[in-house]
Amino acid sequence: MEVKTSLLDNMIGVGDMVLLEPLNEDSFIENLRKRFDHNEIYTYIGSVVISMNPYRSLPIFTPEKVEEYLPGLDEAYRSLRDQDKDQCILITGESGAGKTEASKLVMSYVAAVCGRGQEVNKVKEQLLQSNPVLEAFGNAKTVRNDNSSRFGKYMDIEFDFKGDPLGGVISNYLLEKSRVCKQPRGERNFHIFYQLLSGASGDTLTKLKLDRDFSKYNYLSLDSATVNGLDDAASFRTVRNAMQIVGFMEDEVQLVLELVAAVLKLGNIEFKPESRVNGFDESRVKDKNDLKEMCELLGIEQSVLERAFSYRTVEAKMEKVSTTLNVAQAYYARDALAKNLYSRLFSWLVTRINESIKAQAKTRHKVMGVLDIYGFEIFEDNSFEQFIINYCNEKLQQIFIELTLREEQEEYVREGIEWTNIEYFNNAIICDLIENNQNGILAMLDEECLRPGTVTDDTFLDKLNTICAEHQHFESRLSKNSKFLTDHSLPHSCFRIQHYAGKVLYRVEGFVDKNNDLLYRDLSQAMYKATHSLMRQLFPEGNPAKVNLKRPPTAGTVLCIKPNDKKAAHIFTDSLVCHQVRYLGLMENVRVRRAGYAFRQPYEPCLERYKMLCKQTWPHWRGPARDGVEVLLTDCSVPAEEFAYGRSKIFIRNPRTLFTLEERRRAC
Ligand code: ADP
Ligand code: MG
Repeated sequence: MEVKTSLLDNMIGVGDMVLLEPLNEDSFIENLRKRFDHNEIYTYIGSVVISMNPYRSLPIFTPEKVEEYLPGLDEAYRSLRDQDKDQCILITGESGAGKTEASKLVMSYVAAVCGRGQEVNKVKEQLLQSNPVLEAFGNAKTVRNDNSSRFGKYMDIEFDFKGDPLGGVISNYLLEKSRVCKQPRGERNFHIFYQLLSGASGDTLTKLKLDRDFSKYNYLSLDSATVNGLDDAASFRTVRNAMQIVGFMEDEVQLVLELVAAVLKLGNIEFKPESRVNGFDESRVKDKNDLKEMCELLGIEQSVLERAFSYRTVEAKMEKVSTTLNVAQAYYARDALAKNLYSRLFSWLVTRINESIKAQAKTRHKVMGVLDIYGFEIFEDNSFEQFIINYCNEKLQQIFIELTLREEQEEYVREGIEWTNIEYFNNAIICDLIENNQNGILAMLDEECLRPGTVTDDTFLDKLNTICAEHQHFESRLSKNSKFLTDHSLPHSCFRIQHYAGKVLYRVEGFVDKNNDLLYRDLSQAMYKATHSLMRQLFPEGNPAKVNLKRPPTAGTVLCIKPNDKKAAHIFTDSLVCHQVRYLGLMENVRVRRAGYAFRQPYEPCLERYKMLCKQTWPHWRGPARDGVEVLLTDCSVPAEEFAYGRSKIFIRNPRTLFTLEERRRAC
């Protein structure tokens, strides 16, 4: 077996955990630490890459060097080009572990290895520049990460038959829109708000009726408006430039910025009660200046919007009834509008970027998918947002388990390859607790939101207590599960889920509202009446285009690990790394990999592809394909321990063996 010496060098640890001797948790973590200390941030488990966040720029991140440092990527790319297989790269790890940086590296890699030429270069540049645009609108400073992605992203990079990129398609998932109106302590709103106010020219700000001073805006929390190491003004120029490269017209950029400004204005609209004869309070706009300016920006008649903040129309039995809004309801309506406006703007940006970067249908050949979602979050106080984010991660872990552990082992059994099963924790049961159509937490929440009558977060929790009580991963103070009945450490109005990554306590306050996210019809109609062309497009009601995640069949995975909790370089905290190694199931993974085979292919295509390398199989092999492959491999003097013969497929232990065959074939 041919192994690069660097993979075995003891000083810097082993490059592939499969080669680690002895294999146990201590040696595993010790190996990660050795490598981390030597700036070796990548370690392999077969085709899985473990990436440790260095929290500083290492000189290795030039596109030219990427290939050398990320052989796993190289494998994915070669399989795509030579084996005609779609590839998918899943990136997982907790918030701040380096997922987004890793996904950008994948794109730089693609840009570095494939063809040049004007057309190809333009495609590459556009794919790369889609990042700063999406990050400006979809990322924010959080406690864990100064540039935290607040949306999930799946990007298909499309290639032609030569392996050159033709374009891409981006799908976005679940932008954390509650952030538009309110940010947890120590966190910021989406970057674009600060970038616009800091970086736009005085002239632009005047046109947008904005003030440079962050403190003028209710939606911008003040405690951490400026972040060390973030230059908002410079970023604004980068974003403008990126938008231009991606293909936004100047007037489109203007329309987008107008909507960003409108959101800030909207947040400044305040309400006061006006007593009515019937004893109810009716909401009135307090100071009309912000309302007026917002309406001017969007081309909405002021009276229309004003009315929509005081009344709502309810349709009952074919009749339209107008009811008044009180002050609390008016604020609720305002925030719902801001969240909807912003998240729709974000989706529109994605669609618009896709128009620019998508490949011409006629030439598309293979795709490489890259999935980067927001990382697992556990705070002291966890709400609906964390619940959704953690659910996404739970799902991703499930896909990872399916691909690397379950499918792998099942295939060996199916193919009759000798195999001793390796035990692992399957988190399907936790996914089911959340997503089951009948009694999953999400289904119950939806049901609660649709139920007529008084629906509150507490009625929702009651329901959870009755229905999930027996579930072994669910706990609450009132849970009927006797095991937890006495657990008074759990506060009221909370439930706890034992996720694969750890226990998380969720506070139910706001779940019903956030799930409902009601946008009163009067408001969406008011928006649709705007003369602002982009605004009108954003409110065609009832058509939030849904994109389904289609996962290509084969996959490489990047697991990102956070070495410390301080966002600091050079610090390696054993307990933190150990926790991540455990919940990511890395030990089990090495065990499966160690015993396993990196590559497999049905006999027929294998013979077809390599028959030219052997006199006896070229040009025709008469007989079973399996025997042909055996003759072929023996003739190529590949060591016997490199192969196993399955029922329908040949199994190859080391991918490098395959590359040797490929190189010989190309030399033919
Ligand atoms: P995640 O997407 O997992 O939440 P990010 O990819 O945004 O995390 O990384 C968080 C921060 O860590 C980045 O802003 C950067 O400062 C640092 N970082 C992550 N990966 C790298 C890397 N490969 N090299 C240098 N710094 C990195
Ligand atoms: Mg990220």
